Amino acid sequence: MPKHILPLIPRELLVEQVILDAERIVINCRSRPPAPRCPSCRRASSRMHSRYRRRIADLPWQRRPVILCVHVRRLRCINRRCAQRIFAERAESFASGHARRTKRLRDIQRSVGLSAAKRALVSSSGSACRSAPTRCAGSSMPRVR
Ligand SMILES: [Zn+2]
Repeated sequence: MPKHILPLIPRELLVEQVILDAERIVINCRSRPPAPRCPSCRRASSRMHSRYRRRIADLPWQRRPVILCVHVRRLRCINRRCAQRIFAERAESFASGHARRTKRLRDIQRSVGLSAAKRALVSSSGSACRSAPTRCAGSSMPRVR
């Protein structure tokens, strides 16, 4: 694994394989130890139940979409008093809940969406001023920053 791409991977993940093709980059990875904690009782467990793959879109590299294919462990809670029998390890630091994209991708997409909305608003308010200048004089116009 080339070291120069490692800072781009969330710290909690261990990269097992990087697959490059003409259309996208798929990064097969898994969580780093330590053992995850039960979300109900907070007790750590390493008793494996099963695994599944979670596909999470991340920031593109060189204009290619990136998919983090994370092998998620399902574990058994070892606390006999806990009502939660099985739980999946979480990726809350880089992707919330059952999100299909990383937080950093979500933030960038929101930012781009807001910028586009602001441009559209400025553009439409500009055309409104040209067509009906008195409509812009009141305080009802939204401020665009
Ligand atoms: Zn528990």
